[in-house]
Amino acid sequence: MNVSSARLLDGNRIAAEIRQSVTPGVAAFTSRHGRAPQLGIVLVGEDPASEIYVRNKVRAGSESGLLVDLQRLPATGTLDELLQLVRQLNASDGHDGILVQAPLPAAMGRSATQRVFDAIDPAKDVDGFHPTNVGRLVQGRAHLPPCTPSGVIEMLDRSGIAIARTHAVVIGRSDIVGKPMAMLLLQRDATVTVCHSKTPDLPSVARQADILVAAIGRAAFVTPDFVKPGATVIDVGINRVTDAAQVTSLFGAGAQRVADFQKRGSIVVGDVHPAVAEVAGALTPVPGGVGPLTIAVLLKNTLAAAEARAAEG
Ligand code: NDP
Repeated sequence: MNVSSARLLDGNRIAAEIRQSVTPGVAAFTSRHGRAPQLGIVLVGEDPASEIYVRNKVRAGSESGLLVDLQRLPATGTLDELLQLVRQLNASDGHDGILVQAPLPAAMGRSATQRVFDAIDPAKDVDGFHPTNVGRLVQGRAHLPPCTPSGVIEMLDRSGIAIARTHAVVIGRSDIVGKPMAMLLLQRDATVTVCHSKTPDLPSVARQADILVAAIGRAAFVTPDFVKPGATVIDVGINRVTDAAQVTSLFGAGAQRVADFQKRGSIVVGDVHPAVAEVAGALTPVPGGVGPLTIAVLLKNTLAAAEARAAEG
């Protein structure tokens, strides 16, 4: 018996829609300016997850007609070398967007990520993490909104899910996902609650949500008792699970995901437990939910950055 009731929100389909709207804009920019918009991606080290994310970004950018310039530094590279590379990309006339893939190697130090984000020219900051762009986001005039939260808003809008007058609960308060997510929902007239690891009685707070966003980084953390029946649940989490017993207990013996695990030795699981599909009204799958939208918004932001730079001459 199939007990699943939630509507699955198809991130691949919605990302394709966004990319279809970006591609003609890229072509128009290219013929107007005699060059394609260019995205510089910096990857430090060989973190396997980052390799996959960057490969997907390079492929999606190229398919949309962008020039993608992948610059690599070894894991032994220093923060000074990385900052020097960012300055070169800032100064380059041909680069419209700059993205430094997180996480950086721990050896670079705890403040490295923030120092790198601070160093990126705000006009080229397609991730939207520079303090100037964060400030603009808080003031409701973001030009380059952070890709993942912006992708979530696209997902809701393009799925016909109302945001205004709802109660949205965001679990997670990172600078990359949780905080900007809360800001964007607030700007769309949701009443927003932000939760984190010190929130007392988290399930009962989460259960108030019409829209529940999980951005925690813990596999299957959000169980059905966190979810009001019929709520929309957005699963931002990307967690690699390598424990066979955990996979079987999550999906049940004989499930396709268990077969996938047996083939590959690991699978990616979101922050939301599969049983939430029995309670939620709508749910984003992992993989195939928020992830593809993050990349689609990155392409959109790169085109927007190129157009704004060209307009400024
Ligand atoms: P961070 O680790 O920076 O933040 C996690 C947040 O979750 C923190 O605010 C933390 O609270 C909170 N948290 C951790 N444990 C608990 C708990 N037990 N109860 C309540 N809150 C808790 O992660 P990110 O925001 O960068 O990423 C979150 C997830 O989203 C990850 O799985 C990441 O891989 C994924 N991700 C997916 C993307 C996509 O494209 N789909 C893009 C970016 C991220 P506190 O602040 O108190 O520590």
